Amino acid sequence: GIYLDYNATTPVDPRVYSTMEPYFKEFFGNPASAGHHWGWIAENAVAKARTQVASFIGCKSMEVTFTGGATESNNWVIFGLISKLREENPEAPIHFITSNIEHSSIMKGMAAAQKMGVEVDFLPVNKFGVVELEAVKAAIKPHTKLMSFIWVNNEIGSINPIPEIAALCKEKQIYLHTDATQAVGKIPVNVTEMGIDLMSFSGHKIYGPKGVGALYIRGKDPKVQLNPLIYGGGQERGLRSGTVNVPAVVGFGTACELCQQNFTAEVQHMKDLRDFLWSELQQNIPGVKLNGHPTDRSPANLNITLPGIKTEQILPRLQKLGVSTGSACGTGAMVVSHVLKGLGLSTEEVQCSLRLSLGRWTTQDELSRAAQILKQAIQK
Ligand code: PMP
Repeated sequence: GIYLDYNATTPVDPRVYSTMEPYFKEFFGNPASAGHHWGWIAENAVAKARTQVASFIGCKSMEVTFTGGATESNNWVIFGLISKLREENPEAPIHFITSNIEHSSIMKGMAAAQKMGVEVDFLPVNKFGVVELEAVKAAIKPHTKLMSFIWVNNEIGSINPIPEIAALCKEKQIYLHTDATQAVGKIPVNVTEMGIDLMSFSGHKIYGPKGVGALYIRGKDPKVQLNPLIYGGGQERGLRSGTVNVPAVVGFGTACELCQQNFTAEVQHMKDLRDFLWSELQQNIPGVKLNGHPTDRSPANLNITLPGIKTEQILPRLQKLGVSTGSACGTGAMVVSHVLKGLGLSTEEVQCSLRLSLGRWTTQDELSRAAQILKQAIQK
C-alpha cells in the first residue's frame, strides 16, 4: 500500500528506534531513583532528550516538560491555567480566545472550560483557514487571559500568523499558546524569538514514538503560569507527576534532533513532492479543488475536494491508499469535519473531501501511482 497519512502519524525512524531500545533493556532504571547508577543513567538520558527538544524549538531545557502527547499538553494549558487563575482570584471573570478549526483536544477542552464558567470565543477563520489578526484584536476583552491557536492545521495545512499574534499578546499581557503538533519539522519554529508563551507538540508526528510529547512553558518557573494537571510523586519538577516514560522520551529527543539536522532539505523534499502530487491530481482528476491556502500551506499536506464524488463511494477502491477523509460514517452517526465546515464547505463538499499527507519516506513514484489509483476509482 501507499501510506499518505503522515499527518495522522508517522513511522518511527529506525535511528530513533535504535536509541530507544537500550532503555527497554539494560537501562531500565527509574530516573527518579537518585541513589544508584540505574537511576542516574535513566536520569541522564531524560536530561539529554530535554536538551535535544529544547534546541529544536529554540528554548532552554528547563522550559520543556514532557507529557503523554499533544492532547495532554493542550488540556494542561486550559485546565492548568483555569486552576491557577481561580486560585489567585476565585471571583474574577476569565476569557479565552481560540478558533473554530482547532484540534478536538482544544475544541472539547475549551467547551469543558465554558461549562466551568470560562468565557470562550471560537473565532471563525477566513476562506484559507487562517485566523485574521483584525478578528483577534477585536475579540480581546479586559479579562482575556489566554489565546490558543493551532499553528499548522492538521486537516487542511493552513498556517496561522503565530509570531504576529504573539506580538499582540505580549502587548496586551495575554498568554499565547499554540498547538504546534503539525508545525514542528515543517515550518521554522523558534519559541524564544517568536515570543510564544506556551507550545504543545508531539513525538509521533515527527518520526518519534506515540504517547509522548511536550509542553513548552516560557520562563524559569512554570508554576507562575500554570498549575499541574497531574498530581503525584512530583516528577518533572512537580509539574507532571508519574514515572517518566524513558524510552519514549529518549526517542522523542532523537526525533527532534533528526528533524533539526535535516530541516531545510527535508522541507524542500516535502514541498517538491506536495507540488508534484498536486499537479498529478489536477491532470488526472478534472475539477479537483484544493482546500486551504494555495501556496502558504504545510509542505506535507494536500486537502482536496473531488468533483461530486463522495469519498464513501470510492473508499473500497482506495484500500491500498492510506488517506484520510473529511467525514467518517462509523456507527451510523455521520461525523463531518468541523475544520472543513469552518472553511465554509457544504456538508456535501465535506463528504467529497480527502486529506493526503506525506513525509520522510514518500517517493515521487508512490505519488504518481496514488493519483492513478484515485483516477481509476473515480472513473468506476
Ligand atoms: N493537535 C494536532 C494539531 C494534532 O494533529 C494532533 C494529532 N492528531 C494532536 C493535537 C494530538 O496529539 P497526540 O496524538 O500526541 O495526543
